[in-house]
Amino acid sequence: MRAVSYPAYGVLPTLGDIPDPVCPDDGVVIAVGASGVCRSDWHAWQGHDPVALPHVPGHELAGAVAEVGAGVTRWRAGDRVTVPFVCGCGVCEYCLAGQAQVCPDQTQPGFTGPGSFADRVVIHAADVNLVALPPSVDFVTAASLGCRFATAYRALAARGRLRGGDWLAVHGCGGVGLSAVQIGVALGARVVAVDVSGAALVRARELGAQAVVDGSGMDPDEVGRAVHGLTGGGAHVSLDAAGSAPTSIGSVRSLRRRGRHVQVGLLFGAAATPPIPMNVVLAHELEIHGSHGMAAHEYPPMLDLITAGRLQPERLVGRVVDLAQAGQALADLGAPAATVGMTVVDLSRG
Ligand SMILES: [Zn+2]
Ligand SMILES: [Zn+2]
Repeated sequence: MRAVSYPAYGVLPTLGDIPDPVCPDDGVVIAVGASGVCRSDWHAWQGHDPVALPHVPGHELAGAVAEVGAGVTRWRAGDRVTVPFVCGCGVCEYCLAGQAQVCPDQTQPGFTGPGSFADRVVIHAADVNLVALPPSVDFVTAASLGCRFATAYRALAARGRLRGGDWLAVHGCGGVGLSAVQIGVALGARVVAVDVSGAALVRARELGAQAVVDGSGMDPDEVGRAVHGLTGGGAHVSLDAAGSAPTSIGSVRSLRRRGRHVQVGLLFGAAATPPIPMNVVLAHELEIHGSHGMAAHEYPPMLDLITAGRLQPERLVGRVVDLAQAGQALADLGAPAATVGMTVVDLSRG
């Protein structure tokens, strides 16, 4: 089969031929229709998140079931599906409680095994991890759901408990941040978008943000004060969608009393331990949440909003490329402002 892989960290991924994967008993092989290009893939490629080399990236995928393991009961060849980027084992206490997104034995296509920059990809514990796609959702649109869109949805609806009329601050308007802007507006919130890219802020406004803050040259305290000024006392919910020490602290500084910070952007190296002002967390009774994707069983309410037209993930796709261009598209994420919105690889092209 065709696959895009890299032999070492930082070496441009290239298209080649590798053997077809073998279907595990509890899993399926999916014929990939489309695959998102996400900054988490870029982090793995940079060596921030170690993977076995050579490596096939890609964890945001949609396609059709091609092979079904003997132990799988819920799925058949031909089913149109997507998957969360975190796949649970299906048998541990967390999976049994419906919290596969924190499974200690989780698998992640494109991280713990070969990913979806390929004609075929293996998904383990398929009965727990596959999500049936409504007929109206095409593969390119669905490829954005497994990581960034679903992560943003659950971060706001479940972790942030965002309600109509709330102020939402979104720090970082890349894939997950712009998803959060659109979802926040659909849930009835008033959204303030923060970024250092003028083009990303224009896109945030197009997606319904009421106000924007250009954080260029601002420290986290200044960003917090700007959000307080625009929201009459701070955001009820604030998301760090960028994943850096300044944006994480800026998000906490943006909160209204009793507000909720949700950390969604991945943090690596020195940025992994930002100095959060715990004195303010205490005095203002702030809540600090992490959010790590969304388990497959939680997808239906989000898919209902998509089929009803209230959420439009296809509007977040900025660029569609073919498989031969996927390696360069991944490398391009080193300059996040280069493309506004998500890049998706359409495997039906080329
Ligand atoms: Zn598990
Ligand atoms: Zn991702």
